[in-house]
Amino acid sequence: MLMESQYWPPEKMLAWQRTHLHDLLHHARANVAFYRQRLDCVFRSDGAIAWERWHELPILTRADLRDQRPAMQSSFIPPGHGRTGIAKTSGSTGVPITYSISGNAFAVAKQFWHRFYHLHGIGADIVQAEHKVYLPGGKRMSVDHIEHRNAQTGKTVHFINRNLENERKLALLANTKTSCLVDATNHIEVLARANLRRAQPVALRWVVGLGMGITNAQRQLFRQSFGALALSPYSSTEGNLMAFQCAKVIQNFHINSELLFHEILDHDNNPCAPGQVGRFIITPLFNAAQPLIRYDTGDLVRAGTECACGSGLPVLAEIAGRSDEIFRFPGQERALARFGDELVQTALAAEACQYAQTEPLGIQVRYVAGVDASDEACERVRQHLLDVLKVDISIGFVRVARIPVNAGGKQQRVVCELPAGLAS
Ligand SMILES: [Zn+2]
Repeated sequence: MLMESQYWPPEKMLAWQRTHLHDLLHHARANVAFYRQRLDCVFRSDGAIAWERWHELPILTRADLRDQRPAMQSSFIPPGHGRTGIAKTSGSTGVPITYSISGNAFAVAKQFWHRFYHLHGIGADIVQAEHKVYLPGGKRMSVDHIEHRNAQTGKTVHFINRNLENERKLALLANTKTSCLVDATNHIEVLARANLRRAQPVALRWVVGLGMGITNAQRQLFRQSFGALALSPYSSTEGNLMAFQCAKVIQNFHINSELLFHEILDHDNNPCAPGQVGRFIITPLFNAAQPLIRYDTGDLVRAGTECACGSGLPVLAEIAGRSDEIFRFPGQERALARFGDELVQTALAAEACQYAQTEPLGIQVRYVAGVDASDEACERVRQHLLDVLKVDISIGFVRVARIPVNAGGKQQRVVCELPAGLAS
């Protein structure tokens, strides 16, 4: 169905979404304590949904998921929705949550990953490797490498232990004749640098970066190191594969509208016009275990117009703030996205950089490098960041041995270290 539905006209897609939203709203109101009164405004007395009042439904936040977890669980899972699984995530906002997913929602989402790979020409005949710490089912990986065959698709995937030394990982990629590597973007970056130091660098056709966006500098690095095309799915624990990079117009992302209903909203919760940046709000259509209705993903996106590839799926021209935190200056927020990170890394001769807001009007650039950067180099970076952020702030530079990790164990490129509420 998905190969056909991607060309549906918008009215047909909306009708599909409303059919599933109708069932989801009825299920949530009847079986989830959190939603018992919360959805009242869209229910007519005869049980029909008043779609014109959809925008009156309150926005669900990550803090709600953290604080209201018991009340958000469904007391009844309809037959055929499968066993409920549990996922934990620290997410880009650093607010750790636990989320319940029905077996059915998980199985449906898998089909969208197949479509993404299929559209990019990564079929069952392509040798794929994934770096993993845990195997499907949750068992910790205790060996270096396992060959896994998917009974459904017949596709073979090599699971390679993420905790191995880079050199061992690269040797396994070479031995298995892998063409497509799937891993967290930051991890691929580290491996790509190690690959460049190899006498015979490993060649790959694709790298798929999970967990955060792929910067232009990373794209160039993956091309230079592996000869690989970098592909970026836009996914999260709560939304699964929300959007994916177009196979023809690579700067565009297509939203998986058959999987979720989306909105792009401004500060006052009004819909953004195409071209404007707003918060990405989702309502996944299929998760009966813990329905999310108007959930704020914490990501900032820019709606695009139609795509030259002919797909009818809505376009995101930009996804900002993925994994990266947002700077909170007095009275305004700024995402440090689409900036010259390559310029910065080159100027500072840095292996890695982190941009931390340490004061209401101050940013610290932490960089990993062999030597201190010159005053002139720092000044060039400072000017560039001021141009991008368009805020009058002080910018300091600190050379560090490694980028610090947050409470969730992630190294984040952009962090805001102000106490909550200080900058508002
Ligand atoms: Zn497209």
